[in-house]
Amino acid sequence: MRSRITRKRVLVTGGAGFLGSHLIDRLLARGDEVLCADNLFTGTKRNIEHLHTHPRFEFMRHDVTFPLFVEVDEIFNLACPASPIHYQHDPVQTTKTSVHGAINMLGLAKRLRCRIFQASTSEVYGDPSVHPQVESYWGNVNPIGVRSCYDEGKRCAETLFFDYHRQLGLDIKVARIFNTYGPRMHPNDGRVVSNFVMQALRGEPITIFGEGQQTRSFCFVDDLVEAFLRFMDTGPDFPGPVNLGNPGEFTIRELAERVIELTGSGSKLVFQPLPSDDPAQRRPDISLAREKLGWEPRVALDDGLKKTIEYFEGLVREGA
Ligand code: NAD
Ligand code: UDP
Repeated sequence: MRSRITRKRVLVTGGAGFLGSHLIDRLLARGDEVLCADNLFTGTKRNIEHLHTHPRFEFMRHDVTFPLFVEVDEIFNLACPASPIHYQHDPVQTTKTSVHGAINMLGLAKRLRCRIFQASTSEVYGDPSVHPQVESYWGNVNPIGVRSCYDEGKRCAETLFFDYHRQLGLDIKVARIFNTYGPRMHPNDGRVVSNFVMQALRGEPITIFGEGQQTRSFCFVDDLVEAFLRFMDTGPDFPGPVNLGNPGEFTIRELAERVIELTGSGSKLVFQPLPSDDPAQRRPDISLAREKLGWEPRVALDDGLKKTIEYFEGLVREGA
């Protein structure tokens, strides 16, 4: 626990979302003060309601596409819808959130001369032709497709981060996050783990897009947040980008089968058209994270799914 003297004041944008709320729990547990800035587009107050009386926590409703004037020692920039359904709902706003949001948060970091973390994504690799994906791979992204608002927005944000680093000497940390799951994902978020678990618990058909042969690698949220903190505490000579994710690779059909077995559900599989530009394969090469952070994920898919199922069971009991 940090003392009042060594305590850091940390800004987390997107802190009412899935990853942000878990990150805030960890920051508060180690003694930091946290300012959460979120416009509640995909995040919910429910994710942070347990913190409302916490003396070192503050919530501010703010859209990162507008400038923010606060005094902090560190910034984690997580604000951005992450689920394809949500980021495609208002694609112009998604690009603005990534690009204008990055400019505003980098401007803040420049004024404060403070370290800033960017939640980038495996989507910068697009539909990758290099497998598993290494940080040196430049990616295969459609610049005009339905996923481009997110992919190109995040790519442009990376460009901005590295230009602020080269041009102005800003202390940056760029993490490329691969599919992460766990409690506090929104039940209607549309991402595959939350969809499958909710469908299984409600006894509804499990919607597999395409034939379910596309692959993803699923990281449990606690593992990911541990990597965020380790990365943020590395020296200024390591700006990233660094892949953060679990290298275990599963087809979407395998995931559906795991969820059915672990929930004991009678749900049947139904096959629906594959959305456009849906990447065929994805798996992080995490050699760099292993070397620089001494980190690798510890939670196996079945164990993480059990904790996630337990959380969604609670929501179903409450009538979600
Ligand atoms: P999430 O949708 O649960 O959280 C995003 C948060 O950002 C929400 O609370 C939302 O309300 C907020 N937000 C969105 N637009 C905003 C804006 N303009 N101003 C202020 N707040 C805004 O998603 P998540 O899974 O927690 O993702 C967090 C970050 O991590 C995102 O930047 C996402 O791109 C990145 N990421 C996540 C994953 C994953 O698998 N979860 C993978 C790759 C990258
Ligand atoms: N998917 C699916 N059924 C669903 C939701 C998603 O088959 O109900 C597939 C989707 O087409 C993709 C994978 O699961 O191939 C992961 O989708 P998600 O939206 O979670 O994230 P992505 O990695 O595509 O950004």
